[in-house]
This record gives sequence, C-alpha cells and structure tokens, in this order.
Amino acid sequence: MSEQKIALVTGANKGIGYAIVAGLGALGYSVGVGARDAARRDSAVAKLRAGGVDAFGVPLDVTDDASVTDAAGLIEQRAGRLDVLVNNAGITGGMPQEPTRVDPATVRTVVETNVIGVIRVTNAMLPLLRRSASPRIVNMSSSTGSLTRQSGPEDPLTTGPVAVAYAPSKTFLNAVTVQYARELRGTNVLVNAACPGFVATDLNGFRGVRTPEDGATSAIRLATLPDDGPTGGFFEDAGPIPW
Ligand code: NAP
Repeated sequence: MSEQKIALVTGANKGIGYAIVAGLGALGYSVGVGARDAARRDSAVAKLRAGGVDAFGVPLDVTDDASVTDAAGLIEQRAGRLDVLVNNAGITGGMPQEPTRVDPATVRTVVETNVIGVIRVTNAMLPLLRRSASPRIVNMSSSTGSLTRQSGPEDPLTTGPVAVAYAPSKTFLNAVTVQYARELRGTNVLVNAACPGFVATDLNGFRGVRTPEDGATSAIRLATLPDDGPTGGFFEDAGPIPW
C-alpha cells in the first residue's frame, strides 16, 4: 500500500473545498476532488494538477446513494484506504429564509445536502478510513450553527439574514459530529467540525471578507491532527467555538 496519504474533499470544484484540496496537496497528500458536475470537476482537477497538486477527480453528489457508493469504490480501487475525509459540500438553499415564510421544501433540501449528505458520505467512506493509521474526518460547519452565537452578541456571520434552513442545518451537523465522535471514541478516528469564517465564495455572492485559502486553514489543521488531537469538537482558526 502506498505511503502517500489519501484525502477526499466533497464539493471541491470551487470555493473553500478547492482551497482545502490545494492545501492538502501542498502537504503531499493525494487528494480526490469530489464534485458532482463533470466539467467543473475536470477543470478543477486540471488546474490543481497544473499547480503541482496530486489531485484526481471523484464523481460525487452527496445526495445520491449510488454516486456515493461509486465514489467509495473509486477510492478503494485507487488507494485501498482513505486517510482524510473532508465533508465540505454545502448549500444555503437561497435567501431569504425567514422562519415565518419559508417553504418547508427548502429546509428539507438543505438538510438533505448539509446533514444527510455528510452521514451518507461518511458511512460509505468509513470502511476505507478504518484502514488508515490515523483517520481524520472534518465536517465543514459554520459558526451560524452555534446556538450560543446566534442568541448572543453578533459576530460577522450572525449579522447576516436569519436563515431557518441553513443555520440550523449546521447546528444539526454539529450534533451529528458529536454523535460520530462518541461512537468512534476509543478508535483512531478523530472527527471534528470546522468553521471557515466569512469567506468570499459563490455561497454568499462573494460578500465574505476572507479568502478561500484563509477559510481552508481550520479544516486542514483538523485533517492533519496528531493522534492525541481532539475529537467531537467545533473549531475556527482562533480556537473552539461554543455550541
Ligand atoms: P461554494 O463556493 O458554493 O461551494 C460549495 C461546494 O459544494 C461546490 O463545489 C458545490 O458544487 C458543492 N455542492 C453543493 N451541493 C452538492 C452536492 N449535492 N453534492 C456534491 N457537491 C455539492 O461554497 P463555499 O463557501 O466554498 O462552502 C463550502 C462549505 O463551507 C459549505 O459547507 C459551507 O456551508 C461552509 N461555510 C462557508 C462559509 C462562507 O463564508 N463561504 C461560512 C461558513 C461555512 P457545485 O459547483 O456543483 O454547485
């Protein structure tokens, strides 16, 4: 089995996911670019490879069982194991999302991608992760998912519009992260949630103030934790985020 570490990043054709691939690639990882659209995936992989990253395309729609099963098959065939999974793919579901006016279908769609998608991908990849000497799972959350921050003094992410689908989907994801950490306690799998800060990407119409590279930092740190690192936590660059 190859000594080079293998990572998979979902939603990696652009934005923060792309920057996480570039960052892990610079550390010597071979990185799967999980992306649902073939053209967007191919062009991201070509650009990353031109930049010296050992990137490879992984067709992956996190809402589709067959796609996720096939993605696990592709990694299995290529590397026989997985060292790092970054569940980065996410959607807002579009704004506005006032609780009193939201279409319930919007909430369902956002949860399907941001929460169920993470569970689907994680469970498909776990057999491969368990073959790694130090498996790491990073769930890309948001401080908008922090109930403490949502109900406390405003921070840059909570001055945004109320979002009854997106923000609670990240709260749900944080809770899911803790449950995985509980089940996997005592194994070498470390699973944590990351907040990238307010990053200029398509997700927010490029209104964010940080670069995708800035946004990738916390996820890369959690993806490369030492064996005695934390599990079941929620972190931004400055440290732990209150639930
Ligand atoms: P982005 O530029 O819009 O990228 C989102 C990525 O997710 C795209 O690659 C998109 O693919 C992919 N995606 C969406 N649905 C998918 C699905 N069903 N299957 C596979 N891939 C899917 O947004 P971003 O800002 O980089 O966001 C990345 C993560 O960071 C998200 O989880 C987001 O919630 C989180 N986050 C972002 C900020 C911020 O300020 N930007 C703050 C906090 C948290 P397509 O190109 O095919 O749509």
